[in-house]
Amino acid sequence: MITINENYLKLQDSYLFSTIAKKVAKFQEENPDKKVIKLGIGDVTLPIAPAVGEAIKRATDEMLKKETFRGYGPEQGYDFLREKIAKQDYEKIGVTIDKDEIFVSDGAKCDTGNIGEIFGTDNIIAITDPVYPVYLDTNIMAGRTGNYDKETDKYEKVVYMPATAENNFTPELPKEKVDMIYLCFPNNPTGTVLNKDELAKWVAYAKENKAIILFDGAYEAFITEENVPHSIYEIEGAKEVAIEFRSLSKTAGFTGVRCAYTVVPKELKAYTNSGEEINLNRLWNRRQCTKFNGVPYITQRAAEAIYSEEGQKQIKENINYYQENASIILEGLKEAGYTVFGGKNAPYIWLKVPNGYTSWEFFDYLLEKANVVGTPGVGFGPSGEGYFRLTAFGSKENTIEAIERIKNLK
Ligand code: PLP
Repeated sequence: MITINENYLKLQDSYLFSTIAKKVAKFQEENPDKKVIKLGIGDVTLPIAPAVGEAIKRATDEMLKKETFRGYGPEQGYDFLREKIAKQDYEKIGVTIDKDEIFVSDGAKCDTGNIGEIFGTDNIIAITDPVYPVYLDTNIMAGRTGNYDKETDKYEKVVYMPATAENNFTPELPKEKVDMIYLCFPNNPTGTVLNKDELAKWVAYAKENKAIILFDGAYEAFITEENVPHSIYEIEGAKEVAIEFRSLSKTAGFTGVRCAYTVVPKELKAYTNSGEEINLNRLWNRRQCTKFNGVPYITQRAAEAIYSEEGQKQIKENINYYQENASIILEGLKEAGYTVFGGKNAPYIWLKVPNGYTSWEFFDYLLEKANVVGTPGVGFGPSGEGYFRLTAFGSKENTIEAIERIKNLK
């Protein structure tokens, strides 16, 4: 009899974006004359940079010719891309990363999900709350959690680290011993960051407890403020305790092109049950070589193009565009009397819903009264209740109009 991985039965259906879509469709059906503005989903809207497009065309031409055609490439990514990443994303900020420590992939979603495979299933995981759902769900699938508790909206055996206005979105170090710590800064969904001193506390905790930090830097390109680390490896000793994930999705509009990378330093160790040290770079390399056949050559040439002078200029223009939207939302909501967070170093604005509303009630209110769609905070975890996320990925015109409508509600 074929049996299933019963851990999958512990997963709660993710109703968040499907419920939003249903509510919006119903509203639109009942109000066909109303223009609904969507600032809910975290997907980019600007097209890829011209330099990237040119690189895709050139690589396609190569693939069409017998002499320049490429078949399987290295599982870890082509050297031309790994070298550029090492130089431009790390060397420029004073961090030395060897190209062999960089694993090119087709997304930070897969990497943050798949990385769990190289760790024991009895490790204790710690996640911030609210959180990007992939970290939790992939650990449920792996059997690293207990059952879901409806009362608390939490899973047994998982350490939730609340990040709310009360602690200035700076989660406290766990009181208990944990093994795998997921950190994402700039944060999705709150748009907040940790400064170097705060991040250094996590590195120290991980060292002391022989834990590992899984650091998701998907929104690094949006950092504008000084003293906000662009990489966890800016913290001394972090190479011994941290894996870093980066994505070109939001950095360069690659949500449809698909390219990301993961850094697994050679100094990084984990242990067998008997205490023997094991090199994680080797383990992740083995995993990738067995289960992954690399990112398409055309995509890697596209990724390489963002590191050219022209490419850098062009992707920065797009990021500036989203950053301007973020300021429009942030300042507009402040003027309207809302308490707002994030938006300075991230494309997300996290607002406190007015007293008397739950985050879903506020969703309904905004949809009905302002015809604006956002995301209820509770969809990202129990500590997200009472908050609401707006994204800066819409068009400037729509963003301005949405904020005007919200202001006019007051
Ligand atoms: N990590 C975080 C925190 C994200 O918000 C997202 C996408 O929304 C991802 C990773 C996924 O990135 P990718 O498109 O590279 O899979």
